Amino acid sequence: PRVTGADADAIERSVEAALRPRSLDEFVGQQTVRDQLALVLRAAVRRGGSADHILLSGPPGLGKTTLAMIVAGELGASLRVTSGPAIQHAGDLAAILSSLDEGDILFVDEIHRLARPVEEMLYLAMEDFRVDVVVGKGPGATSIPLTLPAFTVVGATTRAGLLPAPLRDRFGFTAHLDFYEAADLARIIARSAGLLALDVDADAASEIASRSRGTPRIANRLLRRVRDWAEIHGSGKGDLAAARAALTVYEVDDRGLDRLDRAVLGALCTRFGGGPVGLSTLAVSVGEEPQTVEEVAEPFLVREGLMTRTPRGRVATPEAWVHMGLTPPANGAS
Ligand code: ATP
Repeated sequence: PRVTGADADAIERSVEAALRPRSLDEFVGQQTVRDQLALVLRAAVRRGGSADHILLSGPPGLGKTTLAMIVAGELGASLRVTSGPAIQHAGDLAAILSSLDEGDILFVDEIHRLARPVEEMLYLAMEDFRVDVVVGKGPGATSIPLTLPAFTVVGATTRAGLLPAPLRDRFGFTAHLDFYEAADLARIIARSAGLLALDVDADAASEIASRSRGTPRIANRLLRRVRDWAEIHGSGKGDLAAARAALTVYEVDDRGLDRLDRAVLGALCTRFGGGPVGLSTLAVSVGEEPQTVEEVAEPFLVREGLMTRTPRGRVATPEAWVHMGLTPPANGAS
């Protein structure tokens, strides 16, 4: 049968789901967040009530959805999953909230993208477990108060700073997920290889880990591409040679920069003389949405010391020029 792009995406998602750690103990790395969360959850279980609302922030693919599922699992609660862009109107949110049971977890991905009226209804509901549902329009409209069972919101956002203060303040616990150390990623890769029954040696696991942009989702994805390469061109074993060859095919460079990262850095150096240049100009020049450049490429490039954000715009560091194999201008733009 033909596999379409949509089918391929669905396959990737189902493999991703199969690799999700199910408990805090299985969750690799992020020690501080794990310790803090364990305490929040144990206290909630001991009190026999619902947990405080939890906000998880950090770049995509670091485990926010996984942690939300773990929270529900550890509390023995049901999980409802939605996202900021999926809730268009306050009425949609009221419908979701009124269908919740006592102790349920409501996971709101991309919570910074809620529409204003939805956001207002949510933070009032989080505070008082109550919503006012407006029935009818114009002068005849009436507002019916609805009492909600105690529930817990787990919100996920790529940037906690984008949340308006009233909403942010309703979260009793905020955890910031940072990019993973290579050693943790290597453990994640070894764990995933075990679950997928892949033969991947330690050298290959560290090679993949060091090129995964500090991101478990990318590590798991690259692992599968290495398997593909090993099955088609190699001996079927995931060794260092297979890892290097596969990562070259997928345009992941030796520091883990992918095509978008390299496009952004390349444009910054060659078209804008190393900057400073504004985010939207930079995004247009690589044919991407500013949000993607800002939330996906930049956090990693900044962490790697290849780019800085200044009030006047984005600037390539001297290291970026070297990494791209370019000569910085003599007047020293950096
Ligand atoms: P997004 O916000 O883009 O949905 P996310 O932060 O919610 O991303 P997840 O979907 O939770 O990321 O994780 C992506 C993949 O990485 C999952 O398949 C999960 O198995 C794996 N993963 C994430 N964190 C860990 C971890 N600490 N240990 C092991 N595997 C992990």
